[in-house]
Amino acid sequence: MLPISTPSTASAGVTGTWRTYKPVVNLQKCIDCGLCWLYCPESVIDWEKGQKVTIDYTFCKGCGICADVCPVKAIDMVPEGEL
Ligand code: SF4
Ligand code: SF4
Repeated sequence: MLPISTPSTASAGVTGTWRTYKPVVNLQKCIDCGLCWLYCPESVIDWEKGQKVTIDYTFCKGCGICADVCPVKAIDMVPEGEL
């Protein structure tokens, strides 16, 4: 299965200082469904069945789509700088 989009790996794709919230995955709640990986418009979520979800914050834009689509609310949008 392929993600819907692919990330821009050039410097233009790097998140600036403007991101105000960032997604934090609660792995205790995660049911390994892969929806966050599928819907992330930047394709910065690394996921494979049986492996931990990880997010590349260098390219994450903080849009919150991953948190919205997570069926068990395992992703919290945390104010930048809190974690
Ligand atoms: S906040 Fe947006 S860009 Fe960042 S991982 Fe979630 S869906 Fe992708
Ligand atoms: S959408 Fe939620 S439950 Fe599914 S893999 Fe992502 S964090 Fe885990």
